[in-house]
Amino acid sequence: MEEKTDLMGMDTEEIERFLESIGERPYRAGQIVKWIYRKGARSFSEMTDIGGKLKGILDERAEIGAMRILAHQVSEAGDTEKFLFGLRDGNCIESVIMSYEDHIGPSRLTACISSQVGCAMGCRFCATGMGGFTRNLTAGEIAGQVVMMQREIAPSERRIANVVLMGMGEPLMNYDNVLKAVRLMNCPEGIAIGIRHIAISTCGVIPGIDRLADEGIQTKLAVSLHSPFDETRSGMMPINRRYPIADLMKALRRYQKKTGRRVTFEYAMIDGVNDGLDSAKRLAELLRGLTSLINLIPLNNVTGNRAGRSPRGRIEAFKSYMEAAGVRTTVRKERGGDIDAACGQLRKRMAEAGER
Ligand code: SAH
Ligand code: SF4
Repeated sequence: MEEKTDLMGMDTEEIERFLESIGERPYRAGQIVKWIYRKGARSFSEMTDIGGKLKGILDERAEIGAMRILAHQVSEAGDTEKFLFGLRDGNCIESVIMSYEDHIGPSRLTACISSQVGCAMGCRFCATGMGGFTRNLTAGEIAGQVVMMQREIAPSERRIANVVLMGMGEPLMNYDNVLKAVRLMNCPEGIAIGIRHIAISTCGVIPGIDRLADEGIQTKLAVSLHSPFDETRSGMMPINRRYPIADLMKALRRYQKKTGRRVTFEYAMIDGVNDGLDSAKRLAELLRGLTSLINLIPLNNVTGNRAGRSPRGRIEAFKSYMEAAGVRTTVRKERGGDIDAACGQLRKRMAEAGER
């Protein structure tokens, strides 16, 4: 039997071409796009405004993704939900949705999604990095996480309004598929996430940052810095040997000049490693003249981590120093710890259970 064409991940034009290729009229593509991305349809039979004959043909020739939700857990506090997805080839990925009642209201959620199965970057403190790299996700698998989670929570009238690519994987090592997924998520006929509400987080892949700067796209950029010193950073993040801090900062200045966008820095606070005032001082120097925001993350302890998290007082002192130096600094609220949904932990439970 001929393999079915997967429409999940295709934009309107591609669906038009597919319809033409099977001898159907292309103008139906707009309706199909709405069903797939806005309404999260999983089968053609749900598409009530499409005629029975075309539905039958589509059923034979096409499908809408092969991802399945294998598990859906809610944290005790109710503000974090984790989804486990099974992919076509048996691999699994995880995504999280979080509500931030404090500033945008309980019904507007942030989704944290994955861009790869595993990650090749090997950061020492990260559960995903420890598990190694399996493969890139397709654009359909990336956007599909948001579409499927939105469909799942739709009855509660909550809506995913923000997306961060901070789950498993390094988005800029899967550039084309990530950018395609960003456009699909942003598409007004689909799930319509505002482009300024989509954040790409990178460990500092300079060629990807340069491409993004030239893309003419207003996504947010977050950079996982974790130390302003090359020696310390290289010890935690092997990527720093290839793209050291000075080069990274130059790339970010080019990026800001071209896009006008603020750059967010993710900074995991690790006891005695990167949390001293010498680091804060160097960091403030590095960021001079760059519009930035620092997000301090209390380190999540992942099996195998030798270092621990910084004590609260040191995080506060670091924050005060940065703010006095004129850099906006926030401390990330911890959440989802009871369901292993905290940052960098997304593969923890699976890895510990000895599964893939
Ligand atoms: N690969 C991308 C995006 C995914 S990681 C990146 O590295 O930016 C998402 C964020 O979680 C990154 O800022 C990463 O540094 C951070 N992170 C990973 N493991 C962590 C841990 N154990 N504790 C705190 N933050 C962690
Ligand atoms: Fe990959 Fe990001 Fe984890 Fe580093 S922190 S291993 S880049 S997912």
